[in-house]
Amino acid sequence: MTLDDGVTGIGADRRLGNAHRDLRRGQTEVVDASDRSIRLAASLLQAGHIVGIPTETVYGLAADAANPDAVARVFLAKGRPSEHPLIVHLGQEANLSDWALRVPPQASRLADAFWPGPLTLVLDRHPSVLDAVTGGQDTVALRMPAHPAAQRLLRVFGGGLAAPSANLFGRVSPTTAYDVCAALGGAVDLVVDGGPCEVGVESTIVAFEGEDVVILRPGGVSSEAIAGVLGRGALATARRALRAPGMLASHYAPATMLELCSSGDAGPLAAELISTGRRVGVLSLTRIEVLGAAVAWDAGGEMAVFARSLYQRLRQADDERLDVLVVALPPDTGLGTAIRDRLRRAAHRPPS
Ligand code: AMP
Ligand code: MG
Repeated sequence: MTLDDGVTGIGADRRLGNAHRDLRRGQTEVVDASDRSIRLAASLLQAGHIVGIPTETVYGLAADAANPDAVARVFLAKGRPSEHPLIVHLGQEANLSDWALRVPPQASRLADAFWPGPLTLVLDRHPSVLDAVTGGQDTVALRMPAHPAAQRLLRVFGGGLAAPSANLFGRVSPTTAYDVCAALGGAVDLVVDGGPCEVGVESTIVAFEGEDVVILRPGGVSSEAIAGVLGRGALATARRALRAPGMLASHYAPATMLELCSSGDAGPLAAELISTGRRVGVLSLTRIEVLGAAVAWDAGGEMAVFARSLYQRLRQADDERLDVLVVALPPDTGLGTAIRDRLRRAAHRPPS
């Protein structure tokens, strides 16, 4: 792997015993997901280092959730405000009662149905959970990732891993090990390369308020699937405004300007922008032909492909030096809801 300064090649053969001594300041190692690499990653995490890890949603920047210094390193590397809570990733053997004071029946049903997988449950925190992880709140966000390398790592590591997405705060989330290095190279000690992320958008975050089940952030598990498990009407209050730290209007943003529209409007809008001399790209679920577009990406009509490739496309828009990326919003169902949420945040420009 050749990258900017601070990133060295595959280090999977490195002898475990030398791992700590060999970590040079400002150097990022990229390793495959072999058992040996997983043991290396686990030993670094146990020693308080931060490690880029693959999950099925996006790559995470992981730290020992029980080590405040390690957690502080995550915030520092990301440039993330410290009041933004992190999601704690758990292995399949983990005991939920070590992390949550109580688990509402609705939460148990969702965990049974969707764990391991792209679903995060916000529960009342156990008193032992660090303030640094929860942003000082009374709740903790928990998830069991499905990616086999993440599961192997969690088993060997033995504890919980606090991990936000492995990107600079506010920018596009990483879906390959390369993206992690490009964003954080030098600031992270090791990246485990588990291949491109299957789901490609972050987890669905669900909170429990009395009898109510509320989706704080749409994601890899659709609201339809959640309602299917809990029964119709269970998400009736989902649109109520709720305190969801970190859910900023502007997030996941590429440098390229995004124009969001319906699929019917995308062609004419792109053509109009091209006629004014701009370098224009088009992104859509199904193919849209636009004469003079610099690039036209589509997902072959597959929503899962749209989600999986979304962040790569936003990144490519920057690489292509587009002036504008015209995006035809997919339907607001299934994964489409999460895609639309991310696109809205990516397109939002804070008033300057
Ligand atoms: P990221 O890992 O970058 O996808 O961000 C994690 C997100 O999880 C945060 O920005 C919050 O929106 C959400 N989150 C984490 N902990 C909590 C919590 N205790 N209550 C509500 N939302 C949370
Ligand atoms: Mg993030």
